[in-house]
Amino acid sequence: MTEFRTGRNFAVKMDREDRLASYRKRFNLPKGPDSQDAIYFLGNSLGSQPKEAETILKEEMTDWADLGVTGHFKASRPWGEYTTFLTQKLAKIVGSNPEEIAIMNALTVNIHLMLVSFYRPTPLRHKVMMEAKAFPSDQYAVKSHIMFHGFDPETSLIEASGPEGGSVVPMEAILDILEREGDTIALIYLGGVNYYTGQVFDMETITKAAQKKGCVVGYDLAHAAGNIVLKLHDWNVDFAAWCTYKYLNAGPGSVGGIFVHERHANRPDLPRFAGWWGHNKETRFQMGPDFDPIAGAEGWQISNPPVLSTAPLLASLDIFDEVGMDVLREKSIQLTGYLEFLLDQIDSNSFTIITPRNYGERGAQLSIRIPNDAQEVQKKLHSSGARCDFREPDVIRVAPVPLYNSFEDVYRFVEIFAQLI
Ligand SMILES: *Cc1c(COP(=O)(O)O)cnc(C)c1O
Repeated sequence: MTEFRTGRNFAVKMDREDRLASYRKRFNLPKGPDSQDAIYFLGNSLGSQPKEAETILKEEMTDWADLGVTGHFKASRPWGEYTTFLTQKLAKIVGSNPEEIAIMNALTVNIHLMLVSFYRPTPLRHKVMMEAKAFPSDQYAVKSHIMFHGFDPETSLIEASGPEGGSVVPMEAILDILEREGDTIALIYLGGVNYYTGQVFDMETITKAAQKKGCVVGYDLAHAAGNIVLKLHDWNVDFAAWCTYKYLNAGPGSVGGIFVHERHANRPDLPRFAGWWGHNKETRFQMGPDFDPIAGAEGWQISNPPVLSTAPLLASLDIFDEVGMDVLREKSIQLTGYLEFLLDQIDSNSFTIITPRNYGERGAQLSIRIPNDAQEVQKKLHSSGARCDFREPDVIRVAPVPLYNSFEDVYRFVEIFAQLI
């Protein structure tokens, strides 16, 4: 880690030496009150728009206008195989083989589809372990599957939490639960990066420990994909799902992604909800009555791809492909470390950083607890052009994103924050 210094000059110097600095120009950033670029620290919620997205979207609109349905085969990027232009690049981002990836639906829908296949409770092994304070949609989805199978979340859902119910979950808490209850746990299902605290779970260690106990292991990577380095294949994760509109910058409500480990690629015993887009590509258009799934993650596809919501992802993944996750993560560690350093200089006990202090246990986000005043502070930051968000009851989440945020953004943010606090 660089030795950080106070003073604007340091930020200017860091930006001058930043080899990713030019990527900021490839994005449209929201404007602040002075119609300058806002300090946009909300890429954990909705990533900024890659400028190239509009061009690609317009090309699809033109092909649609000119070609009609033949665009499925004749468009410059044939719509019928649209997601195949993305799987290679997305596979690199999550650390998998291309066959382990499918691009489809929206995140929570995909969570349901994965749970259908990978949550197979029995009377002796019916529990699910999640982290306490998991994203609500994940809690609703998991509870609904527990009930769907005739079990009761009261007895079948285990929530791992910190000491005194703290938000950050220590590894020992997870390993303890596995030790005590592992034999009755069917599924470990965690946010790889928790949306609230920004905590990164050690997915490799957890996966190994849980599988040793016979549990299936899946992750929600909404806050991890495009944020931290992932090696889903090598970690032997069973399945994962994520959205592409947060760190992956593909636009509001854009298409989701799933990972299914190669060892599940050809398992006819796994039940799944089927659709024609998961059917063997060679025989799909023979329109036969019997489902013959594609080997690999694409066998979970249901519908033909939503081209207009997938087009911006092409623009975004081109950028990720140029940069690479290792280089991106390197800058991210510096940028968030610098934010932490500057916040620590503020002489005030009216706020605390709840995100882990060890940079290996966090991504591009610091969650700051401001008892009583968090929402007020967030509003004032917003009207000063410093964008972050507020989460009930008393936390603001601040996410400097290495692709388009600068060290000077961080400097200016803390300058404004310090005055308010
Ligand atoms: C953002 C997010 C979601 C959102 O789900 P959608 O189905 O895309 O609306 C779900 N889970 C987690 C962990 C998230 O961070």
